[in-house]
Amino acid sequence: MPWKDLSAKTFASIRELSGISQRTQEEHYELYKGYVNKVNEIQKKLDSVDRAAANQIYSEYRALRTDLSFAIGGVKNHETYFAHLGGKGGQPGGRVMELIQRDFPGYDQWLADFKAAGLAARGWVWLAYDHDWNVLTTATGDAQNTFPIWNATPILAMDVYEHAYWLDYGRARAKYIDAFFNNLDWDVVAQNLDRALAMQQVHK
Ligand code: FE
Repeated sequence: MPWKDLSAKTFASIRELSGISQRTQEEHYELYKGYVNKVNEIQKKLDSVDRAAANQIYSEYRALRTDLSFAIGGVKNHETYFAHLGGKGGQPGGRVMELIQRDFPGYDQWLADFKAAGLAARGWVWLAYDHDWNVLTTATGDAQNTFPIWNATPILAMDVYEHAYWLDYGRARAKYIDAFFNNLDWDVVAQNLDRALAMQQVHK
């Protein structure tokens, strides 16, 4: 089946946020659109690439497959990120809080650890629901396509690539991480968790 183009989603968070400038959000959104365009470009090339020439050292097929995972990661990560920005921060309620408290030593400890992960990662930090172990877990990734765990659904995604904060904070990444949490919409995170838990029911 020939590839059907993805189109870029729109997000209410592409505007001035508290401590994250409109320019940062607009530039960042353009990067996201670049990932969408590259997924479409690569998928179309994959429709007609010479599979007989596939080779692990170098081949067109290898280059397309490798970079496709990077481009798809760039789409999915940013769609999670932009969708849950634009909120009022604070603390989560309901099931998100319950599960954080159940699966980590406590909310404050989880938050401190997640912020440390944001300083340690080169690309992303995710809070994900692990469907095999039935727990929330924190994961770091150094690029769009370094997902360390299979069968886990990210419910919160924090971009720590420099493009997410350099215009506003220079190298003071910790200040950006605080701003990220000040703008987090926990209701969207709660919806993501509900969706992950609904998938859990399907898996059983
Ligand atoms: Fe980004």
